[in-house]
Amino acid sequence: MIKDQEFIKNPNVPGPTKEEVRCIVICKSDVKLEDVVVDIGCGTGGLTLEFAKRAKTVYSIDIDPDAIETTQQNLKKHGLNRNVEVIEGDGFEVLDKIEKFDLLVIGGSGGKLPLLIEKGYKKLNKNGRIIIMAILLETCAEAISSLKKLSIKPDVVNVSISKGETTKRGTMMFARNPITIISAKKGI
Ligand code: SAH
Repeated sequence: MIKDQEFIKNPNVPGPTKEEVRCIVICKSDVKLEDVVVDIGCGTGGLTLEFAKRAKTVYSIDIDPDAIETTQQNLKKHGLNRNVEVIEGDGFEVLDKIEKFDLLVIGGSGGKLPLLIEKGYKKLNKNGRIIIMAILLETCAEAISSLKKLSIKPDVVNVSISKGETTKRGTMMFARNPITIISAKKGI
C-alpha cells in the first residue's frame, strides 16, 4: 500500500482514501490481474493507484479538472500510468464510452448514484463487482436501495479508524471520519 503522505495533494481535491481503508477496499474488490476497473470519482488517485498495481486496465474518471490533474501527477510520481486512462467528465456519461468491465468503484457521484449503479451494473462482466464508498448516511441508503432493486444484497462495512500519534505523554489515538464500504457481486 502506498503511504498517505506519499501522495501529492491539492487542497481543493478530496482524498487520498486513507491507507487502511484502501486495504479493505482492495480486499473486498477481489481484484485480479486480468481485470478492467472503472474508478468513478478518482479524486487524488488514492484508489486508482492501488488498482493500477493490481489490474490490467484502469479507467479513472472525475468531473473536476483539478482532480484529473492531481491523479495524473500521482500516477506519474509512482510510475503507474502505463495501464491507466484518466478521463475528465461526468461518470454517468463517460460510462457509455467504456466497453464492459470487471470492477466498478464509485467514490463520488454528485447525486447520481442510483443512475450510476443501474447503468454500471449492466456493463459489468459476469462475476463483476461493484464497490461504493460512502461518507454520508444518505449515500449508504441510496446505494443499498439501488442494489436491492437489482435483487442484490450487498456486503456493508462501516470502518472507523483511529491512528496513534506520539505525544509527550504517550501514543494518543486520533479518530478519522467513519466510512462505509458497500460491495456486491454480479450473478451469472
Ligand atoms: N477515491 C478518491 C477520492 C474520491 S473523492 C481517492 O482515493 O483519492 C470524490 C470525487 O468524486 C471528487 O473528486 C469529485 O469531483 C468526484 N465526483 C463527484 N461526482 C462525480 C461524477 N458525477 N462523475 C465523476 N466524478 C465525480
